[in-house]
Amino acid sequence: MLPLKLVYDERYDLNLGAHVFPSQKYRLVYERLLHDGIAGPEDFLKPSPASDEDILRVHSQDYVYKLKTGSLTRAEVMRMEVPYSPELIEACWLAAGGSILAAKRAMEDGFSANIGGGFHHAYPKHGEGFCVIHDVAVAIRRMQADGAIQRAMVVDTDVHQGNGTAAIFTDDETVFTMSIHQEHNYPFPKPPSSIDVNLPDGIGDADYLAILEKYVHRSFEEFSPQLLFYVAGADPYREDQLGGLALTMEGLARRDALVLGYAQRHQVPVAVTLAGGYARNVEDTVSIHVNTIKAAIKAAEQWSKRPTSNVT
Ligand SMILES: [Zn+2]
Repeated sequence: MLPLKLVYDERYDLNLGAHVFPSQKYRLVYERLLHDGIAGPEDFLKPSPASDEDILRVHSQDYVYKLKTGSLTRAEVMRMEVPYSPELIEACWLAAGGSILAAKRAMEDGFSANIGGGFHHAYPKHGEGFCVIHDVAVAIRRMQADGAIQRAMVVDTDVHQGNGTAAIFTDDETVFTMSIHQEHNYPFPKPPSSIDVNLPDGIGDADYLAILEKYVHRSFEEFSPQLLFYVAGADPYREDQLGGLALTMEGLARRDALVLGYAQRHQVPVAVTLAGGYARNVEDTVSIHVNTIKAAIKAAEQWSKRPTSNVT
């Protein structure tokens, strides 16, 4: 059995068909993890949907009502860029429940991963960029409400800036947000995160990793989180259709090892979410996400070997 739990539900798959967002990727990641013997059925937990109370700690009553009753305006649905359906809403509440569960398990085991989530473009009062409910913010607010943590950090390496995250936690000293992303790409404008790292187009592995290391280090110097959410987008990949960076698959795996290893050495629990990924070949997106899970497993193994302070 793995030293961490993976959170997944088959209803994460939205069946969006030919949409640029390959929502079948969650199922493909799950199946690849099992097929390759990386994880067994016993390593997975099924989430419960987040409660409305959980969702309402982040999102407005009016927005939640519209989502639940299918009464968004056409403009609001267009801004989400995914077609509205009851299944979409079910998947969003489940993804948020999945991130809550991953956060709870991370506090127990050091690491956990939601094979979904990372919907970092969702705002309190609207959805955009394929994101409807901000699962990571919902999970952080739930953990704070439970008294499980006071301070959280979000490290977002999706190629697109985490605008929803930045907007939700602006002026909130309990949550530190770092986003490393392509500057000349959606979203415009970019509301300020605690640290924004605006990368030039076409940056490759070596430059990216050097810059990432510098800013992860700086984030941990400025802030001492009790829980880290890692938003591990697959879209800084050089073959991504919606990204303009040039990382290789190996570079992305080193990115994961860098962030997760840093947290592990600082003894900060990590909940991983997958976020974006639009490679020309969906199997590449799946491979990048699977590599992120492998990095989390490795970090969790190190965590379980750490010396505990109360050993006599
Ligand atoms: Zn993205």
